[in-house]
Amino acid sequence: MIGFIFIKKSRNINVRRGVIQGDIPSPVCFLVALDKLLKEHSQLDNGLQLTPTLSISELDYADDCALPGANAEITTSRLTNLDTHAKSLAGMVISVPKTKAQHIMIQPKMSETTEDDIANLPTEKQFKFACDKCGRTFPTNHGLSVHKGRWCKGRRRTKQPSRKGSVADRIIQQVKVEKHQHTLPVTRIGNEELENVYTFVYLGAEIAGDGNPEITICHRINVGWGRFGEYRHVLTAAKLPVQTRIRLYIAIIVNTMTYACGAWLFVDKLKKKLNGVNSKMLSQITLRSIHQEAAKPTFDIVDFVMQKRWEYLGHILRMEDHRATRRFLLELSPNSPPYIEGSLLADAPNRTREELIQLASDRDEWRKLL
Ligand SMILES: [Zn+2]
Repeated sequence: MIGFIFIKKSRNINVRRGVIQGDIPSPVCFLVALDKLLKEHSQLDNGLQLTPTLSISELDYADDCALPGANAEITTSRLTNLDTHAKSLAGMVISVPKTKAQHIMIQPKMSETTEDDIANLPTEKQFKFACDKCGRTFPTNHGLSVHKGRWCKGRRRTKQPSRKGSVADRIIQQVKVEKHQHTLPVTRIGNEELENVYTFVYLGAEIAGDGNPEITICHRINVGWGRFGEYRHVLTAAKLPVQTRIRLYIAIIVNTMTYACGAWLFVDKLKKKLNGVNSKMLSQITLRSIHQEAAKPTFDIVDFVMQKRWEYLGHILRMEDHRATRRFLLELSPNSPPYIEGSLLADAPNRTREELIQLASDRDEWRKLL
């Protein structure tokens, strides 16, 4: 081993940056600086007024920041002002490619999926499974088999059955919705245009501009499948008892997949979807059939989510009155049922808000209620 001993003092080091990356106080200094910049230069009074008493001016978490505004002029003005001051006062630069604009609105209905739409997909999105008889393409092997077994006429020109409701249809509709965003007004930082997106991943949750809850849950399911692939060898290892592997499954996969489920609009259709995925994963672990795991799961993921949501609802209802999470939950919901389908309060469909607040005050009793 070679060691160096410095006898003389080193030359002076010119610290050219305020904060060094990886330095221990670095994140704290960064947050203090960013907080000051946002407070003074992001036009906090230019946010969105949701109700007479509730407004939202920013969403910040560490270096992730969202600035809402009623239209593209306002968001442009907020961002440009922040960017100018961040540069001049702190040498901070907002990354244009990483910053996206999202229009929060109901999406207009897109035209129905046609074979031309499928043929005109960009190369990287082209469907991979082609019928060798008629040339029709499919995004999944399953879709191709169904087509071959039931529909294929063997000729290219015959009238094709509609794609409605198929995986292909969903993909094309998604592509159209994404394309539609480019026709909407543009937000800029200075002279640079930001890309309009339909969905955006914020703190691990993919959020759609029209609030479509399927996007959010499907995103977590995809992350879950990715994890499942990484750990498949452990989860399916015959050497380990099934019980141990189920516990691993809950710790590694279920917790990843249900991350932020407290904010899901958990409608019945999505409960079924999650149960379906759970049954496919479980069946690989327990070797029971997918059907068995769907009907009577070894581990009930929907119950698990409902329980987590119930605990979270209790937690919010016990918060002090002024807390933002509590105010958003209560002030954007009706006082009594029916609540918005799939919302946290709808998990208690027969009780008024006041009753729920009362019940939540006793944590142990609250737990017993579910
Ligand atoms: Zn065919």
